[in-house]
Amino acid sequence: MHEQVIGMASEETRTNGTDDPLADEGLLKYVRILKDNDVKVTSQRVRILEYLDLSQGHVDAETLHKVLRRENPSLSKTTVYNDLELFRKKGLVSVLTISGTERWYEMERGMHHHLLCDECGRIYNIDISCPYLGGMLHGEHKIKEVHGYFRGTCNTCLTAGTVEEDKED
Ligand SMILES: [Zn+2]
Ligand SMILES: [Zn+2]
Repeated sequence: MHEQVIGMASEETRTNGTDDPLADEGLLKYVRILKDNDVKVTSQRVRILEYLDLSQGHVDAETLHKVLRRENPSLSKTTVYNDLELFRKKGLVSVLTISGTERWYEMERGMHHHLLCDECGRIYNIDISCPYLGGMLHGEHKIKEVHGYFRGTCNTCLTAGTVEEDKED
């Protein structure tokens, strides 16, 4: 099983807020992604994509807003949310909902499952194959995608000994 820690993103990814993001070589990648998908390029959108990419994360609009507002104090949460939803419609990001109404966004990385740790709240990407993929379910329904999630205790929390491992005989 392949696991990747993508829970808590560092909020110190970028400390210098005075540079022009569109003149930054490292950001050209994101400018290109926006252009290729017919999304109008703004420095805000470039920043959002960059953050989602570098944090490798599942990030909600609120967290993203908090981070980006440091560089741009007038930025509204609605703008961030609208940009994220635009990205979703264009297929640049995917949205994950596990426990209810929350919406976590991540860069589109293809189909995968998730594990939510009940102890620390981190979300892990879980890469396992599904026997139904590409096949027929009950001989009736053709399956194109499978998105599943698991809840449990992550390796870090188990190792830290904060939780007693279930002992089943
Ligand atoms: Zn954990
Ligand atoms: Zn994921």
